[in-house]
Amino acid sequence: MLAPEELSAIDRAIVGDVLTADHAWDNLKEMVDRFGSRFGGTDGERGGRDFLAGRLREYGLDSVSVEEFEYTGWVRGTAALEVVAPRPMTIPCIALPYCPSGDVTADLVFLGDGAPQDYADRAERLRGSVAMVSTRPPRFLSRGMHRGEKFGRAVAAGAAAFIWMRHEGGLLPETGSLRFDKAAEIPGIGISFEAGAALTRLAESTGEPVRLHVHTEGAIRRMPSWNVVGEIRGRTRPEEIVVFGAHFDGHDISEGARDDGAGACVIVEAARALAQHGEHVGRTVRFVTFALEELGLIGAFNYVRSHAAEMDRHVFMMNMDGAGGVGDTSCVLQGWPELVGPMKAQFRDMREAVAVGDQIGVYSDMYPFAVAGVPAGTMGTRDVRPGQLGRGWGHTAADTLDKINPKGLRMDAALAARLALRLSHLDPFPAAHRTPAEMRALLQREGWVEILEYEGRPIPGA
Ligand SMILES: [Zn+2]
Repeated sequence: MLAPEELSAIDRAIVGDVLTADHAWDNLKEMVDRFGSRFGGTDGERGGRDFLAGRLREYGLDSVSVEEFEYTGWVRGTAALEVVAPRPMTIPCIALPYCPSGDVTADLVFLGDGAPQDYADRAERLRGSVAMVSTRPPRFLSRGMHRGEKFGRAVAAGAAAFIWMRHEGGLLPETGSLRFDKAAEIPGIGISFEAGAALTRLAESTGEPVRLHVHTEGAIRRMPSWNVVGEIRGRTRPEEIVVFGAHFDGHDISEGARDDGAGACVIVEAARALAQHGEHVGRTVRFVTFALEELGLIGAFNYVRSHAAEMDRHVFMMNMDGAGGVGDTSCVLQGWPELVGPMKAQFRDMREAVAVGDQIGVYSDMYPFAVAGVPAGTMGTRDVRPGQLGRGWGHTAADTLDKINPKGLRMDAALAARLALRLSHLDPFPAAHRTPAEMRALLQREGWVEILEYEGRPIPGA
């Protein structure tokens, strides 16, 4: 362990270095302007990969590598939505990732927020229908509901096509993959709040069924992708590994600046800042920018798979998807309540006001680590938008660089570098690995198993 005065000298150096420069902002700007969304299968994905690996090398990280794997990719094709009756209309729409090619003519069934009860109430009508559901978290349910579950419930009910209607105005369709790492069963498209409202109004004002024609084209094919990995070799316990990571891919309809160019650039900046104090790092700290989170946590799952032989030496994983905002900072552990106290102690020591809790989540890159039994958490600062429900600009064409405040990038990068240094020294590390059976039991207890089934995702430990 570092002496307190040594630690505080490094703290001051890191904070001074990160807060008086704009490396994360400059990197984010260059990345989105040169490479666009970095969506899986695009040239921008390769450009982003090489750019991030180049920065890690330039910053003096050890063993920088680009780790290749194969996955089930998706190529966007055209999408069209026409109202056939009672009054012909053309509605702007986008296909959602993993949407197959299809031609469906059927009646609209609107599910509102899409709580389970909404599906049950319309069970008869849903079969063979075009099911439309809002992105809004259900108002009368004590939990959120991800797009994957709402889509999965529509498929299970026998719908022939799916419409994902955004619940915030602004003429923005919202994207998001229908399935994880595989083709969806039925076409799925996104439309804006205003377009969805026009459809429901048409049904109400005419009292007649709204007959829709959905046409989509999309191709599924095996593709390569890459995680970008670099590390600062530990000086006292080099064989033990602490991972800090965030995904670098964004959605193809946007710049993916907030989700998650910002997180990736925060990680790379934390790596730069900490690398300058490499001789004081205890365990090895590994920085990973993951591919393909948006298509189903695919990069993170492949990292865990390809590093299986050293997973038992992974002491902790911190995910920073969406980090770099200006607002409240939180750190959510993924089924390790015994880590809440020690983590709070780290933030107290850093004089950082960070809310710490424990609640497993299944929708970002900490999840593949957690279900492999590696103590994991997710941390970051969200932008404040009063009254906002959901993703803000994320997953829309408006997720652009102009929404990012460089101050947020600096603050989260400094926080990550200082926390990584501390976690590299905690002795003993105050959390142990779990078995697959323990993780499965936790998911069961928290109600996730049924949801994963609807989403067509593997059940860990099954
Ligand atoms: Zn994300």
